[in-house]
Amino acid sequence: MEIKTKFDPGDTVYGLYSVDRWITETCNFCNGEGFISSNRESFACPKCLKEGEVGTSSYKEWFATKSHMRISHIRLSRYEHQSTYFFDHTLYYVYDSPDCQMKTHFPESDLFSSYEEACNAVVERNKNNPK
Ligand SMILES: [Zn+2]
Repeated sequence: MEIKTKFDPGDTVYGLYSVDRWITETCNFCNGEGFISSNRESFACPKCLKEGEVGTSSYKEWFATKSHMRISHIRLSRYEHQSTYFFDHTLYYVYDSPDCQMKTHFPESDLFSSYEEACNAVVERNKNNPK
């Protein structure tokens, strides 16, 4: 089986990765104090666990790798969807760059050949995120 890939081993690319961000609001149980007082004693708030705020929803904030990475090899992954027997093939590229410690492989859709392209994709993916 011959598989066409967007990049080849040895190519240098920039990758996108995301960080989960939480949208928080002041805890309505302790009014943001983090503690509940009762009978002159203070207890850690059971709802926010002393944080004073609680997460209500999360979103992904995207970034581009600052330095380029060199592709060491390409691995083909196969995912099986629940109860349907279609197979979805995704190509993953594995890197040998020590600069990218948070991630060692990326799907093809998260890779770009120039930093500029990667940054444009980051702006596009983050556009609907809360400011
Ligand atoms: Zn609380």
